[in-house]
Amino acid sequence: MKLKSIERFPFEIQKSLRKFQFVSDPVITEYKPLIGQSIPDLESFAESLGEKPFRGRQLFDWIYRQQVDDFSVMTDLSIPFREKLTNVPIHPLKMITGDVSVSKQTRKILFELLDGKLVEAVLMIEGNRITVCLSTQVGCAVDCDFCATAKMGFIKNLTAGEIVDQFLQLQKMSSEKITNVVFMGMGEPFLNYKNTIAAADLLHQPKGINMAAWRITISTAGIVPKIRQFAEEEQPYKLAVSLNGSTHEQRLKTMPITQTHTFSNLINASKDYAYNSRNRITFEYVLMDGINDEPQDAERLIRLLGSIECKLNMIPYNEIGGVYNRPSDERIEAFMEPLKRAPFPVTVRWSKGTDIDAGCGQLVTSST
Ligand code: SF4
Repeated sequence: MKLKSIERFPFEIQKSLRKFQFVSDPVITEYKPLIGQSIPDLESFAESLGEKPFRGRQLFDWIYRQQVDDFSVMTDLSIPFREKLTNVPIHPLKMITGDVSVSKQTRKILFELLDGKLVEAVLMIEGNRITVCLSTQVGCAVDCDFCATAKMGFIKNLTAGEIVDQFLQLQKMSSEKITNVVFMGMGEPFLNYKNTIAAADLLHQPKGINMAAWRITISTAGIVPKIRQFAEEEQPYKLAVSLNGSTHEQRLKTMPITQTHTFSNLINASKDYAYNSRNRITFEYVLMDGINDEPQDAERLIRLLGSIECKLNMIPYNEIGGVYNRPSDERIEAFMEPLKRAPFPVTVRWSKGTDIDAGCGQLVTSST
C-alpha cells in the first residue's frame, strides 16, 4: 500500500490529519467498538459492566451527539466506570491518510478496518453544502463495467459502525458541519441492506447525530426486491437509482445486474416507490461517450420517466483508464438539449475531486 505523506496537504488540513494520526488505534479486544451501537445496545453494554442502563445513554450522547472519543473527557461518567471502559475501543476504523483535490473542495480519506481491509470515503464542499459520500462494502459484487470499485470484486460488507465512523471521522476533520450524506461510495448499499439502514438510523437518531432523513440519500444500482422492501418499510431516507441507460439492452452492456433485475422491473419498482411513498426518486445517469449519450437516449428518458415523480441527475463519466470515455462538452450539450423539455428537473453533476480519483465510480483500494 502506498501511503501519501500528510506534508503534501495545506497547513490547516495537516493539522486535522495529524490530529487523526493520534486517534487511538482500533484495538482488537473482547469488546465491540462503541461506534455502531444503538441506545439499547449501549444500555445492555453498561449493564454487562455492572452499571445502570442510563450510563449507556450517556455514552451514546458523548459518542454521537457530542462526538467525543476520549473517555477522560466524559466527566459525568463515574471514575470507576471510566476505568472499566479503558480497554473498550470507540472507533472501528483508523484513518490512514487522505488526499485533497486541487480546488481543496474535495477530500478523499482512506480508512483501515480492524482486519486491515481498506475503504474510502469522500467529503465535498459546495458553498454551504457539505456532503459526505460513504462506503457500505469493501469492493462490490455488482460488477458495473465502468466502475473502479467493481475491479476489486466483493470483499466484505461493512458493519453499521464502520459506515457511521466514516461520517464521524470526516466530521471531526471538517471545520463545518456536514449537511448531507450519500451512500454512494464503495459497494452496493442494498446488498448490505440491514447494516446500511442501521447506519442511516444512527445518523438520523435525534438523540445523537440528528441528521434529517431528507438529507440522507441511499443510492442503488437497482436491486429490485430491496427497492420494494425499502418502500414497504416506509424508510424515510431518499432513494437514488443508477439508471445509466435508456433501454434494457443498452444498460445490460455496462451493468450486468440488468440480467437479473430487468430494466422494466427496475422502472416499475421505482415508479411504485415514488407513487406510494410520495417521495421524489432521483435517477443517476452516468454519461459515457458513444454508449448512452445520443440525443435519442435523452428522448427515451423523457418518455420513460415522464410519469414518475423524479429528478434526473446526469454525471459525465469520470475516467478510470478503461475503455469508457467522458463525452465532449459538445456531445453533453447536444444530449441535454431535448431534456430541456422534460417534465422533471434535470441537473448535471460536474464531479468534484476527479484529480484525486474521488469522483463517482473512481473509489478503489488495495492492501498490496
Ligand atoms: S457503480 Fe456502484 S454498484 Fe456498480 S460496481 Fe461500482 S460500486 Fe458497485
